[in-house]
Amino acid sequence: MNGGVIENFDSVDLVVVGGGPAGLSAAARAAEGGLAVVLIEENHQTGGKLRGQLHQENDGEWWIGWTLANDLLARVERAGVRILTDTVAWAIEPGWVVRATSSRGGDAAEIRTRAVLIATGAVEKPMPVEGWTLPGVFTIGGAQILTNTHRVRPGARSVVVGVDPLSLTIARAMKLGGVDVDSIVLPPVEVPDSDPQSTLKRLGGLSKLAPYFYMRLGGALMAIPGLAAIAARVLPRSLSLWGIPLRLTTRLVRIVGDDRVTGAEVETVRANGDAVPGSRRIISTDSVCLSNGLVPLNDLSASLGLEFVTSDSVGAKVAVHSATGATALPGLFLAGNTVGVESAKVSLKQGEIVAGEILATLGNSPFETRETELGELRQLRAESEFTFEPAIQQGHDEIAALFTQRQEAPLP
Ligand SMILES: Cc1cc2nc3c(=O)[nH]c(=O)nc-3n(C[C@H](O)[C@H](O)[C@H](O)COP(=O)(O)OP(=O)(O)OC[C@H]3O[C@@H](n4cnc5c(N)ncnc54)[C@H](O)[C@@H]3O)c2cc1C
Repeated sequence: MNGGVIENFDSVDLVVVGGGPAGLSAAARAAEGGLAVVLIEENHQTGGKLRGQLHQENDGEWWIGWTLANDLLARVERAGVRILTDTVAWAIEPGWVVRATSSRGGDAAEIRTRAVLIATGAVEKPMPVEGWTLPGVFTIGGAQILTNTHRVRPGARSVVVGVDPLSLTIARAMKLGGVDVDSIVLPPVEVPDSDPQSTLKRLGGLSKLAPYFYMRLGGALMAIPGLAAIAARVLPRSLSLWGIPLRLTTRLVRIVGDDRVTGAEVETVRANGDAVPGSRRIISTDSVCLSNGLVPLNDLSASLGLEFVTSDSVGAKVAVHSATGATALPGLFLAGNTVGVESAKVSLKQGEIVAGEILATLGNSPFETRETELGELRQLRAESEFTFEPAIQQGHDEIAALFTQRQEAPLP
């Protein structure tokens, strides 16, 4: 692996920006198919968010991201991919040129290539709230890396704020790692759609994730129009999820402490989000983990002038692309969370598919299994236990249809 010094590159077919599951699986397949591939990763290690993942699937098997990331890296190395870690790609120019800088030596490179894949993943949305800059406050992703990757507890005790797939699974990992997780509570009033009713509706879409009968029941109820409000009213103040209290009628007000976190002030709320007067109280804790959802990281594709659309089904603003990751700019491809936040399993498959498309585009081999593999991707989405947006397949279908429409439109 490169130690920070960027060499000169000749005859590069494909530069992959981002060494998460999407970028790694794409790089491996493309190199196995005969392409000269360079992979650029800004972190010290490849693997992206996969490295921090640790959760139990509904069949009882554990998803251990660290091991999976190592296996992927071994495959990429065997395939002969040149890997640049500690290197950030900061500009892409049509033609194609990728400009990158090593964060260790400061060396810069200009890599000329026939094609570029952007697989830069997603980032967490911040949750500004009084006290959020105090030591002891983490984003939920930061807590995941500390707990699962570095085996360090974010605190002896923790309050997790925000109810979504990440907060639920990471709260569990923290508990397994020895953190006394006081509870999972709703975000402050400033966060849109965070009242109990809206949260419950979202949980309905996530019921596959939680092997817990009440949440499954909640999911079933949500499918029946008009029952959401009733379900929210009958919701008990606290559910137990893997032994962690999930308090759907408790909301964070502010984080308390002088020079570090000492508590979280919360209040009780009604189903519609109205605060119950006089219900404010302080939970004593030395850490607070904030979860406010993820957003695709697509600054590089935006800088190239690609058309973007906001899709409610995908839950984000993403560049218009084909089902296999091609864009309107020949030679530029996209894969993974940069086109919508999904599970690592889906990202791995997206990487495989985009590599098939790149091999076909560069004339190495026809993509004979395209339709079969797109079917497998659909299947993975449908069965995924880690779902951020329940209607994401529909969103991807709409974006792919828009891509085809744009391709077929007569030139002005
Ligand atoms: C905090 C967090 C936690 C998550 N936890 C889970 C989970 O537990 N289970 C699950 O299934 N999914 C989880 N996800 C979703 C997760 O993103 C996907 O599972 C999967 O990792 C996405 O793969 P990817 O390759 O698209 O992106 P990533 O895994 O995010 O990888 C993108 C890589 O690109 C690199 N990069 C970005 N920009 C540049 C640049 N300009 N130059 C060089 N390198 C760059 C990043 O450093 C990163 O390594 C999580 C996502 C986040 C943000």
